[in-house]
Amino acid sequence: MDQRAGEPDGSTEPVSLYGEFTATGNRKVRFAVSLTERELTVQRLNPAPVGRNKLVLSLKDCVGCRAFRQDDKADPAAYLTAYFYPLRRRWVSSVASRQRAEQCFRLAGLEEPHANLEEAEKWARAVRERSARQQYLRDGLSMSELSRPRRMMLLVNPQSGKGQALTMYNNCIQRLLNEAGVPHTLVITERHNHARELARDADLSQWDAFVIMSGDGLLFEVINGLMERPDWEQAIKTPLGILPGGSGNALAASVHHYSGASPVTGDELLTSCGFLLCKGLVSPMDVVSVHLSSGRRVFSFLSLAWGFVADVDIESEKYRHVGAARFTVGTLVRLASLRVYKGKLAYLPAKDCGGSGGASPKKNPTAPRCDERPETTVEARSETTFHNSCHSNNSLKVRRVESAPSQNTNRSLGGPADSLLAPLDQQLPNDWVVVPEEDFVLALAMYQSHLAEDLMAAPGFSLDGGLIHLFYVRAGISRGALLKLFLAMEKGAHLATSCQHLVHAKVRALRLEPQSPKGIITVDGEVVEYGPVQAEVHRGLARLISG
Ligand code: ADP
Ligand code: MG
Repeated sequence: MDQRAGEPDGSTEPVSLYGEFTATGNRKVRFAVSLTERELTVQRLNPAPVGRNKLVLSLKDCVGCRAFRQDDKADPAAYLTAYFYPLRRRWVSSVASRQRAEQCFRLAGLEEPHANLEEAEKWARAVRERSARQQYLRDGLSMSELSRPRRMMLLVNPQSGKGQALTMYNNCIQRLLNEAGVPHTLVITERHNHARELARDADLSQWDAFVIMSGDGLLFEVINGLMERPDWEQAIKTPLGILPGGSGNALAASVHHYSGASPVTGDELLTSCGFLLCKGLVSPMDVVSVHLSSGRRVFSFLSLAWGFVADVDIESEKYRHVGAARFTVGTLVRLASLRVYKGKLAYLPAKDCGGSGGASPKKNPTAPRCDERPETTVEARSETTFHNSCHSNNSLKVRRVESAPSQNTNRSLGGPADSLLAPLDQQLPNDWVVVPEEDFVLALAMYQSHLAEDLMAAPGFSLDGGLIHLFYVRAGISRGALLKLFLAMEKGAHLATSCQHLVHAKVRALRLEPQSPKGIITVDGEVVEYGPVQAEVHRGLARLISG
């Protein structure tokens, strides 16, 4: 049988290395192994295979390869093991996920043990170099950008999610990082804000990456710890990585989504994120600066939520023993006691202004939509299609507030200046759009594709587009329609549901002034102080290890 893992073809490429080795467990089983620039091909020679028996492994799927000798001094052989994580379909499902496929061979062609080891090491080096070059060829990035972090601090929160993060590290991640030869130091967080303190006080010359294995909350701590430092500008450039170990694994699901793979959850998501971490490709990531009513500023990589979504996130804490399903349970509970949240919402539209509400423009003449065109999917609304045409439309539809021009705020607090925001107690700059409604079911600003493992809020999103996707749902939506929206969001199809109450706008900055006396606002799933809040996106401020 011809079994091909990874991308098809490439088999016509010149062979760089060829060898005939035996299996490690049974020396009577012989293989012909050949290495090209893109593939490792393993063909069984003996016992004679029934039909063809060839395994072609793409080096894109390889995380590492090592050569070694066994303790038995009488055995002159050396061993070669290559670690692959190709995408494979499970027989029960059409979804492909990364599955471990180890290839191990015994090399005993030479008499001298050290000569066999040298030969095995030559192979191991060749496999590793080609596998690194595959990334380079695919992504067109410079090799310097590809250099894998030398030492990463891996922060594991033993309390996150179902309390399984440490077990998941022991069962899966430790082996994967060792296979890939990624040196790391495991740090088990002991309390709330521990990770923040570690990031704030770390000697950055010792660390090439901070990787968190928890939910999104722990990365929020690390980012804010880095931004509190006097050297924040360099510190925030330290590559960050994420492994899903919590109940809210939105960034992990987003990183997996950006890699182009089909959606997976649970252990399969963990393997995928672990694989991407080993590959070590670093991309710029937007960070959003969020001003709170106290004057404090926090930095956010995922979301700002108020109303239904924030309530579900926090109220569902008590169901954290069910893991990611806590949001489903929380959504159903909150739906039963659906309420209206009063407040004022305003935003600075992105230049292209590619808003895409689910509402039909005709039935909803007052909605602050940038586009008054027939309904299409969000992907179909390319940025250029809507370029600048929205401003004239908008001027008819929305109230605008005349105010002082925008100014830099809070430079003194550390972190970048916010050039688009006026101080929270002052009027909005005059190019902002004020949403006419004041009764909402939710407001949600997103800057990653996923809101949770199985909720894709912003499909077609990119890590460093400098955009905030602002969604809000106006009051008056029925429970059924809201449930339908969340169900559609599992596939990122909520914007295509033509929901009259959902509005979506691409923005650079926003301000929310809740009027209800009590409530919850979350940033990256963490509760922040309740009150007026505003935010501005900083394009590519941080760096994320992603696919
Ligand atoms: P989850 O997705 O399960 O909510 P998070 O990463 O968001 O996981 O973490 C939840 C919270 O746990 C964060 O606020 C973090 O500060 C806190 N935390 C981290 N380490 C510990 C610990 N050892 N004990 C208790 N809480 C912790
Ligand atoms: Mg959390």
